[in-house]
Amino acid sequence: MKGRVLVTGGTGYIGGAVIDRLLAHGYRVNTTVRDAVTSEPRLRARWPEAGDRLKVFSADLLSDEGWTEANAGCDAVAHVASPFPLDVPKNADDLIIPARDGTLRALEFAHKAGVKRFVQTSSAAAIAYGHPHRDHFDYTDWTDLTTNPAPYIQSKTVAERAARDWVAINAPGMVFCSINPVAVFGPVHDGDLSTSVELVKKLVDGSIPLLPNMGVCVTDVRDVADAHVRAIEAPVEAVRGERFPVSERFMWLDQMAESLRQSAPDLAGKVPHRRMPDWLVKLLALFMPEMRQIRDELGNMRDVSGRHTEKRLGMTFIPAQQTLEDTVRSLVQKGIVKL
Ligand code: NAP
Repeated sequence: MKGRVLVTGGTGYIGGAVIDRLLAHGYRVNTTVRDAVTSEPRLRARWPEAGDRLKVFSADLLSDEGWTEANAGCDAVAHVASPFPLDVPKNADDLIIPARDGTLRALEFAHKAGVKRFVQTSSAAAIAYGHPHRDHFDYTDWTDLTTNPAPYIQSKTVAERAARDWVAINAPGMVFCSINPVAVFGPVHDGDLSTSVELVKKLVDGSIPLLPNMGVCVTDVRDVADAHVRAIEAPVEAVRGERFPVSERFMWLDQMAESLRQSAPDLAGKVPHRRMPDWLVKLLALFMPEMRQIRDELGNMRDVSGRHTEKRLGMTFIPAQQTLEDTVRSLVQKGIVKL
């Protein structure tokens, strides 16, 4: 039997996938959720065979309660929990405070418990924003916060920087690294969809009539989970201080739409064909907050390379076409998208 790992945010899309992978690899897993009374039955239903190998603890990113118990006996932490909402909050601190203070809290309690390795789920949001004249990025790049990017982007950048500073000052012996995924898709487990998967759902269920001129980098939730486990298992010298972007490729939305039409011919009629003119996005952005984020992305390519991660962690990422196909298949299988 391998060691015990704490995964924060076991109710989440990525947190669940990391637990899945750890249990399959023979680890014992502690996980934190905000309220174990309501969430534990759902987690037990997902991993009915896990028994004592899975322990569920209540611990909020904004409170010290429960973190000592959650870390007890753990060899490593995968700190995945962080707010990732669809809507943009009015106050950026609604995201920055739980992201930054929650990460520092998770680090502090892990260090106190003698945890030796800490893997933070950061994001490409901490890599590829605030550089208007660039379109290719890699693990060496940092988002420029002086350009005042969206609150979620700020929250991930601030949290990763704060974690690195905290480890350097308070726990230089701890092995710390970050996983920096781009937009994460792939099989879903239930109808509680991550913000990223909502995009694919909306592209195939008819709720997006026209395609704005924007794109995203695509990665698979199974690769993101695999990268976390490999970062826990790899030799210290391969991971200490590292950043691991997980990204298969950049796709414009019309390329994604074409890929989805091929993957799911039964839904092809609902997948938008036509471009939304930029002027219409700008006009709608005057009234609709969600269109403001799209307006800011018009024509932007942010191609974040994952090659460093593939090389360093010995991975070959799942092709984006396969990821999108598996996303739609699972949305249909779970009855979330109707044929
Ligand atoms: P998700 O499904 O929304 O999961 C977010 C998790 O964070 C949930 O378990 C949520 O718990 C927990 N959480 C939020 N606020 C919390 C708080 N105050 N206290 C305790 N737990 C809290 O999102 P996800 O896609 O799996 O994202 C997980 C992580 O990956 C986040 O750090 C996100 O920034 C990062 N990431 C995601 C993507 C992507 O495309 N999905 C890309 C790059 C990075 P509840 O269930 O109680 O809300």
